[in-house]
Amino acid sequence: MYQLQDSVLVVKGIGTNLQKSLQDYQIENILDLLLYLPLRYEDRSAITTIAEIKKLSVEKTQIQKSSENQKVKTNFVTTKARVVKWNEYRKGRLLISRASIADESDQINCIWFNNKFLKNKIIVGQEYFFSGNLKEGNLMQATVEKISDDHENIHTGRLVPIYSQLADFKQGSLRRILAEIISKLHQSGELEQVFKDLHFPSSIDHIITARERLALEEILYFMQISAQNKREHQKKNSRFQLSSTIKNQIPKLPFELTTSQQKAIQEILIDLQNKVPMNRLLVGDVGSGKTIVAAIPASLMVNAGQNVCLIVPTKILAKQHYQNLAKLFKNINFTLLDSQSKLEKIEQGTFYIGTHALLNQLNKIKPSLVIYDEQQRFGVKHRQLEEYLEQKKDYPHLLSMTATPIPRTLMLSIFSHLEMSYLDQMPNSRKMATTWLIPQFKKQKALEWLTKELLNTTTHKKQALIVCPFINPSSYKAMENVSAVKESFEFINQELKQIYQKLKIDKKYQLKIGVLHSKLTKLEQLKIIQEVYDQKIQILISTPMIEVGVDLPNADIMIIQSAERFGLSSLHQLRGRVGRQGQDSYCLLFSSVNSAQNQDNNLRLKQFCQEKDGLKLAQIDLENRGAGDILGYQQSGLNNLVFASWTNSQIIKQAQEKLKKEPNYQSFLTDYLQKQNSAQIIESIGN
Ligand code: ADP
Ligand code: MG
Repeated sequence: MYQLQDSVLVVKGIGTNLQKSLQDYQIENILDLLLYLPLRYEDRSAITTIAEIKKLSVEKTQIQKSSENQKVKTNFVTTKARVVKWNEYRKGRLLISRASIADESDQINCIWFNNKFLKNKIIVGQEYFFSGNLKEGNLMQATVEKISDDHENIHTGRLVPIYSQLADFKQGSLRRILAEIISKLHQSGELEQVFKDLHFPSSIDHIITARERLALEEILYFMQISAQNKREHQKKNSRFQLSSTIKNQIPKLPFELTTSQQKAIQEILIDLQNKVPMNRLLVGDVGSGKTIVAAIPASLMVNAGQNVCLIVPTKILAKQHYQNLAKLFKNINFTLLDSQSKLEKIEQGTFYIGTHALLNQLNKIKPSLVIYDEQQRFGVKHRQLEEYLEQKKDYPHLLSMTATPIPRTLMLSIFSHLEMSYLDQMPNSRKMATTWLIPQFKKQKALEWLTKELLNTTTHKKQALIVCPFINPSSYKAMENVSAVKESFEFINQELKQIYQKLKIDKKYQLKIGVLHSKLTKLEQLKIIQEVYDQKIQILISTPMIEVGVDLPNADIMIIQSAERFGLSSLHQLRGRVGRQGQDSYCLLFSSVNSAQNQDNNLRLKQFCQEKDGLKLAQIDLENRGAGDILGYQQSGLNNLVFASWTNSQIIKQAQEKLKKEPNYQSFLTDYLQKQNSAQIIESIGN
């Protein structure tokens, strides 16, 4: 009998050599091996008679997609037949084996290449399962399995698991080993069934149920870590507590705060008076006015003689914040810091603004409040901040701000250690970009319109941003992402040439295009951005990296290439980048699928053109599971989940109920997930 925590060495057929190579896959114990899940399943369950096989159209491939993205390939046929003839011959270096097999209905040929083991396996006159691809009337490279007495065939005659390459295992031996482990699992019958359904399911529904079980365990694990973090946080002391009499000191502003801004500010102020340090996330759409919500409480801390750090992702944003805030808060002492600037002497009561370089200075600055702006990448650990915090008994208050629309229910249930404030109202002066979906055949017309708009500078100098989706979102530095930008540049350039000719535009008025991608050096990137600021560039083509890094107040028009590849939330964040100063702005969605091809996608994009509310769009994304990078979590680092998905609200609810009944429930995935380090998100989202 095996236990989940037993080393893989206990398994018959795994020796020290295999054990070593399995370590490269982080597989050490039985549970790790059992969680090496099939990549897909092949349906070899339906037994087709040979007569039916012959009728089948040749090589018809059909991918059946179940709701959990489990691909089941159905281009395979399986038949149960007797071998009537067998022969083998060589053609050069190629060994060709042939068998004629027959059932009551008809007869067909099977062909194999270079399979020297078959000879010993196949006995003429015996009956087997044959599963293979149909090609030109023959069954190719079929898997042959003896018909077992106890109906427990694992390689054919059922949904068969297909794994990605693991160490030196052949598919067949991996299957055998997993089947043997499951049969000897010394666990409650229920878990045994889960693993059986994951590897040797009797139906697709069983796979889904079993996967959902893993997802549930993972969510349970997260909830527990979060609760634990909260308990630990409660024991900490804040370095400084604002006095409760400061409420009237809010400075005069050139605009009126929205109700949700006022509410968020009050929530923060109450936290700042507390002995337990604040750990709050401020969520609000692009343009909802998060900066001022953070800056008002921060200014009160500074007035009380404390230091505050505002950490932003880029130098450019740091400078923008610095300039804007210095204008609004005339009596406050601001310092802009980047990796080049030296911090000579610390003056108490200073508002420090800078990039992550600020983190190196925490020991000197000793802030009482640390604010993270646009903390898009929650998954990234801020090691310096953590190290700094670890040594402290007295903690700074922490406030993170994000435009990633994280639904309230999700935050409340999973990230319970974080307090949340939502800005769900837009300042009145801010208009969302008018959005159009541009069909393929209207692209040229749209670009002509764009050219005319950009050349018409009667009101102000206009600018456009063209965004190409990441082809490889897991790494924004991937080469394909760069070539997507370059390709887009070629396309736009070609089109513009024709438009200039058509409109008879003189060379000296022609538009300057800039290109921004990750293969440029930091310096080159800054130069391009500066040129955009200085209005020397009218069209900027970029990957979605502008989503985080750059604020271009003059941009009026945005074109999003292959818009169908973005989740609606990501699209929404992108379009928030134009019209920042309240000017009329436009967002043009170029879709590369034609409408007949993909009704759903078009519908989704059309909804997007109508809907201006970020949280509602996040909800639509939720309902359209599988729509690209749902909620932009891909970019936000919130996607480190192994089994679950943040969007599965059903499972999140189940987990909540389970913990209510069994507060001390220990997920059987705890050790496994700890090894995967997925809890990083929880730890860093609040820190
Ligand atoms: P974000 O939430 O994207 O960080 P910002 O804080 O940069 O948004 O605010 C966007 C713009 O809106 C800024 O120019 C800011 O001064 C302005 N703003 C903020 N709050 C209001 C308000 N209540 N009324 C009018 N303008 C506002
Ligand atoms: Mg902002």
